[in-house]
Amino acid sequence: DGVEDRNLEDAIYAFGFGNRCSYVKPFGAGHINETYAVYMPGEGGDELAYVLQRVNSNVFKDPAGVMDNIFGVTEYLRNVIRREGGDPDRETLSYIKTKSGCNYFEDSEGEPWRCYNFIPDSVCYQLVEEPEQFYQSGSSFGHFLKQLSDYPASKLNETIPDFHNTIRRFEAFQVALKRDLKNRADSCRPEIDFVLAREKDCGVLVHQQDEGILPLRVTHNDTKLNNILFDEKTGKGLCIIDLDTIMPGLAANDFGDSIRFGAATAEEDEPNLDLMHFDISLYELYVKGYLEETKDVLTEAEIGSLPWGARLMTLECGIRFLTDYLQGDTYFKTDYPEHNLIRARTQFRLVDEMEQQFERMQEIVQKYTK
Ligand code: ATP
Ligand code: MG
Ligand code: MG
Repeated sequence: DGVEDRNLEDAIYAFGFGNRCSYVKPFGAGHINETYAVYMPGEGGDELAYVLQRVNSNVFKDPAGVMDNIFGVTEYLRNVIRREGGDPDRETLSYIKTKSGCNYFEDSEGEPWRCYNFIPDSVCYQLVEEPEQFYQSGSSFGHFLKQLSDYPASKLNETIPDFHNTIRRFEAFQVALKRDLKNRADSCRPEIDFVLAREKDCGVLVHQQDEGILPLRVTHNDTKLNNILFDEKTGKGLCIIDLDTIMPGLAANDFGDSIRFGAATAEEDEPNLDLMHFDISLYELYVKGYLEETKDVLTEAEIGSLPWGARLMTLECGIRFLTDYLQGDTYFKTDYPEHNLIRARTQFRLVDEMEQQFERMQEIVQKYTK
């Protein structure tokens, strides 16, 4: 509509492309932000040069904090990449400031926009097609952690407070269960009992963090395959993107979230539980890629925490689905009334299988630490 078009145009001018820009069109397959491709005249005609995004302010209540984190981390990464002998224009995102020197532009409706360079000759995969890609994924997120291992994580803004505080997530579940607003508790007793039986587990990583046994790291918090750009020529992981949720956190959480969705044999909302399994060979591939990069950087306690990260990120995610089901589906988008319950069940299936194979999961981590 008109206002939206005007805001887009204002943003293009704010970043100084105004007259030079050839055209702009919607871009990418993201679900959170609104993403546009900005084309500029090049030698061989118009070229995709920049990515312009309107940040989803419903999800990110503190866009200034988000952008502050992103600028801090990417500018630091540029120096690390130079020292590694890499290409800082391809191996991290380069964010562009507005003409007036701000990290982002606020449009007439107060919505935040930001802009960064497009990385040519790269590909992005929505799903793991070859097991090799999951190994690459572990390697890329491991490398990201290693590059940022000396970055002062405590200086980052906690833009989504208590994001992976599993104890708080358990408490929110208890409240939803007690209220039982939609009278749904009777339809999910086995799932409720599954969660209640694991109250103690919820504190395993949080307590180690509070006691300083596990250090704070720069964490990405959305470690999906489609947040890595791969080099089209070499097929290797090239650049970590989608940096909105960078926050101080535990290495085990980023690791665990990757395993949660990547080492599963079915979609998160697969109704047929017989199809949902934890694939320990995919887990091993990720561990290998991840630890090749990080084994000299992570502490012994952190390495020991990785299998717990997989278990607890999966449990936490299932708890969130079940909580939302009990609350009447106010957070996650649902297509049918039991959608969140179906999602919770797949997660608990994975947790159950991880628990059964936990010793093996720990052995695999030890194997690649040597
Ligand atoms: P999500 O749903 O994963 O949260 P999002 O809305 O936050 O997505 P991004 O992940 O930042 O959006 O970008 C959406 C997609 O655009 C990416 O998955 C990728 O395919 C593509 N993309 C983003 N940035 C670049 C870039 N610099 N170079 C090439 N492609 C890019
Ligand atoms: Mg993304
Ligand atoms: Mg995102």
